[in-house]
Amino acid sequence: MGIFHCPFGCPFYEAEGCIDCGLCSATTNEEMVEASKKVRAYLKAQSRQGGSVQKIAVCGKGGVGKSTMVTLMARALVRLKYRVLVLDTDESNPGLYRSLGFDKTPKPLKSLMSRFSYKEQPEGDSHWIMLPEIKVADIPPAYIPTQNGLRLLMVGKIEEPFQGCACSMADVTRGLVSRLSLSENEIILIDMEAGVESFGRGVERSVDLVLSIVEPSFESMAMAEKIIYMAEGMGINRSGAILNKVPSENIKEKMMAELEKRKVQILGTIHFDTQVQEAGFEGRPPNNSKAGEEVEEITQLLVNIVQRAVSD
Ligand code: SF4
Repeated sequence: MGIFHCPFGCPFYEAEGCIDCGLCSATTNEEMVEASKKVRAYLKAQSRQGGSVQKIAVCGKGGVGKSTMVTLMARALVRLKYRVLVLDTDESNPGLYRSLGFDKTPKPLKSLMSRFSYKEQPEGDSHWIMLPEIKVADIPPAYIPTQNGLRLLMVGKIEEPFQGCACSMADVTRGLVSRLSLSENEIILIDMEAGVESFGRGVERSVDLVLSIVEPSFESMAMAEKIIYMAEGMGINRSGAILNKVPSENIKEKMMAELEKRKVQILGTIHFDTQVQEAGFEGRPPNNSKAGEEVEEITQLLVNIVQRAVSD
């Protein structure tokens, strides 16, 4: 098994850091499940308590509004004087750069890869990706343009048939997020691909907070439960759900009751907003929306929780 699949980044069995979980040598589904349980138990036992929250993964089922939430949260954090990086890891949806106000996409991080792994001979402006600790200042401007106080990184998109799977892009994301060293007032918001495949690949391993965006549907609430389960199994002890596109107080109450049954903590509610819908239709930033105000309140709440955790 290659380095990608070991949750601890061990190049081979019994290398330094190997916990003898058996994931790399599992040959049946049962063995794989047993090995995953060992990894889960180990990471849960090791999970960090308290500390700052600077790496935030925004997750959820497809179409729940992850990118919109990232856009609105990023803008709210800028207003709160944070230096905000947005990392677009979705290899399908093309429009996040537009809703953030950029007129073109950054140079994709996948250009740092050969087809399946990092280029053996990094050329030109590629050396930074191999640094053991990557600071924002190490990243060349072509990969991280700035607009309205926001910085944007993009892993890359699948553009052609037969281009291959997205494993190498997940590898770039995981490596970058784990080695990214942020200064005190920097926050990275990661727009995750839909679903839980990224958890299976261990992409969220080094994030501080997992937010699950939930729309009013059974699938979405079931997915939220799964995402929180996955986050806990990675040793991430800060996670919660934000209800999105909520059309009425009646639906909100039903969603809250269902998520409570599923033991998912709710961090806030964003009501359905036609202004956000229109902005999404036109592929432009949502301005002066009611949803934007609600996201701002939730963001402020998260910042307060984070600051309390740091000062405790
Ligand atoms: S046994 Fe587990 S920890 Fe060790 S190398 Fe294999 S996957 Fe990694």
